[in-house]
Amino acid sequence: MQSFIPIPRTLMGPGPSDVHPRILTAMAKPTVGHLDPEFIRLMDEIKRLLQTVFQTDNALTLPLSAPGSAGMEASFVNLVEPGDKVIVLQNGVFGGRMAENVERLGGTLVRVESPWGRAIDPAQLEAALKAHPDTKVVAFVHAETSTGVKSDAKTLCAMAQAAGCLTIVDCVTSLVGCEVDVDGWGADAVYSGTQKCLSCAPGLSPFTLSPRAAEVIQSRGTPVKSWFLDMNLIMGYWGEGQTRAYHHTAPVNALYGLHEALLIAVDEGLSASWLRHQRNHEALKAGLEAMGLAFFVPESERLPQLNLVTVPEGVDEAVVRRQLLADFNLEIGAGLGVLAGKVWRIGLMGYASRPENVLLCLSALESVLSASQAPIHRGVAIDAMQAAYSAA
Ligand SMILES: *Cc1c(COP(=O)(O)O)cnc(C)c1O
Repeated sequence: MQSFIPIPRTLMGPGPSDVHPRILTAMAKPTVGHLDPEFIRLMDEIKRLLQTVFQTDNALTLPLSAPGSAGMEASFVNLVEPGDKVIVLQNGVFGGRMAENVERLGGTLVRVESPWGRAIDPAQLEAALKAHPDTKVVAFVHAETSTGVKSDAKTLCAMAQAAGCLTIVDCVTSLVGCEVDVDGWGADAVYSGTQKCLSCAPGLSPFTLSPRAAEVIQSRGTPVKSWFLDMNLIMGYWGEGQTRAYHHTAPVNALYGLHEALLIAVDEGLSASWLRHQRNHEALKAGLEAMGLAFFVPESERLPQLNLVTVPEGVDEAVVRRQLLADFNLEIGAGLGVLAGKVWRIGLMGYASRPENVLLCLSALESVLSASQAPIHRGVAIDAMQAAYSAA
């Protein structure tokens, strides 16, 4: 055996996305102790930077030392006690995981399903809240990575809040790629991941809790059923203005990476980042449509950072993905759940959302599809892409 030397790939799937070189450099710096005063200073900066990208003043804003799924689990395990009623608005795979969290915690699940590939319908939430006035929590995924769909978080949070409910919002794929406005929405528990539009290495979950949610957690009747994710304990380590107590060893170098990722995002500016994601999406869309490929999601509900493209009739989608990886070192994603075999998921997330990646993806896909005799229009995608960039 020898050192592992990965082949450099271009990551245009549903995550991880290409990690920014500045972040890789940051992660290679010497490890310091997790209670070192210099490291505590870094932790405070990370909290402030996270507040900026989440657009929140929540004091309880920090990265959990585990991937996005831990942010989901932390939200539910802290806010849901046995018997609590939770409405889960589901329009894809990740909403299904939310429902599973509620059931495992002994909560009373009200599952409200929207079709895969469509945004959550606020009218369905309205009806569910009317039918279940005793609901404690409403949970949904802002950017459903399994379907490439964005839901209207602002409207959904406002409806839940008007009914006196707490909200849990999954922003794993949306954060920094499109608008996330925690305080503007009035959302209570919001989590993300580092490996999507933050373009950081996988393994951390940015997390924020409203003062209202923190109060609910502090006044629970039963202890939080997870020791590791119990926010009452985590705050002993991450809390401001108190002596830091050992809870677990922070992933020091991973946090160097997150700090750098957040600096990059804040330096670019949030609205500049959303606009960049939108422009590259428009250019990719123009090229794919010129080739004759179709998008799976209605235009107004699409995520610019994750494009679901219908696999043409007679094409084996897995063969195409394997070929893209083997010939062009390009990774795109497969369909998940009921969409397996039917769609590709092309990510333009964070650092990967760049014109050169759009160009690579369009030309590589055209080359592979042409070689497999797929019914596409050749030689027009790059012009269409160029026209879209010129128009922007
Ligand atoms: C990726 C993702 C997750 C899970 O994040 P991990 O880092 O893989 O644990 C959760 N929700 C959504 C919407 C995601 O896209």
